[in-house]
Amino acid sequence: MPAWLWIIIGAVLLGLLSGNKGNSRKSSSSGKPFRIDHPHYMSEDESECSVCGARFREKVMECPRCGARFGTATENQDEWYEEFEEECDMDEEEEEEGR
Ligand SMILES: [Zn+2]
Repeated sequence: MPAWLWIIIGAVLLGLLSGNKGNSRKSSSSGKPFRIDHPHYMSEDESECSVCGARFREKVMECPRCGARFGTATENQDEWYEEFEEECDMDEEEEEEGR
């Protein structure tokens, strides 16, 4: 199958997924509170409150700081990748500096 066909299929699927949410134009921060889980590569996992941004280590369904009740939890792996790449960079640093 040619690559452009996959792109069209992907675009259609994305359209269907986002079309299901009626208020997709509004930012998600105005909706229900949710917990953002941040897996860490170097340290313990953290969770973040979508309302006040508090960080905590427990996987609780209620914010320890502002008391918001989380309906759902999403995972944000950005920090895991950042730390993972930093760890890789450290190994390669000597090569980079030797330019
Ligand atoms: Zn909070």
